[in-house]
Amino acid sequence: MKILVMGPPGAGKGSQSSRIVKRYNMPSISTGQMFRDAYNKGEKIGVEAMKFIKKGELVSDDITNEIVRLRLSEEDAETNFLLDGYPRTVNQAIALDKMLEGMGSKLDAVINILSSHDVLFERMEQRRVCKQCGATYHLKFMKPQEDGVCDICGGELYQRPDDTHESVERRLEIYESKTKPLLDYYDDKNILYNVNGMQEFDKVTDDIILVLDTIYD
Ligand code: AMP
Repeated sequence: MKILVMGPPGAGKGSQSSRIVKRYNMPSISTGQMFRDAYNKGEKIGVEAMKFIKKGELVSDDITNEIVRLRLSEEDAETNFLLDGYPRTVNQAIALDKMLEGMGSKLDAVINILSSHDVLFERMEQRRVCKQCGATYHLKFMKPQEDGVCDICGGELYQRPDDTHESVERRLEIYESKTKPLLDYYDDKNILYNVNGMQEFDKVTDDIILVLDTIYD
């Protein structure tokens, strides 16, 4: 199963994706997380990408496509994967289709998590992420057991540099202009499934599972 989880920034793509990959035992490929990991390790690509990320801008299609191409060539991504946050532009979607075609494969489903701008702002300002494993928390709705410490790996929790009000505004603008057109792109291929992201966290997960189980039954 090869799936893509889409939605505006803060819609819960990362948290929902980590549940889905556990349930179906598949690797998660998050370009945002790969960039943050590379930055935390001091790698050149991460340092370069962070210049754009901090401002809420998109990293160039070339750099992003390349990091995905390398990741997709790894053995664990051969039959199953979940893409989180990639593609984000029509050019990236076309590049992904070509990569998959070259592997004799294609995307099976695109899950789009819907949310309103008010909810997104609130979520992103309250979001905390583990520096070590990338797990996400919400200071009100998904609190860690101990303040500032990841429940899963004990890593330090931090606020992402692009979760500031200004940066969030810019990211939403970019989502509207560059990423939203992808919904039509995938709808035309009949693989787009919308899920209401403004429900209880568990209910959103259940709705995604319902879609995926229907497709794979
Ligand atoms: P995310 O963790 O998915 O919210 O991504 C964080 C940031 O990484 C984004 O705001 C972009 O600056 C960058 N990024 C992640 N994925 C992509 C992508 N597919 N194309 C361009 N930039 C990306």
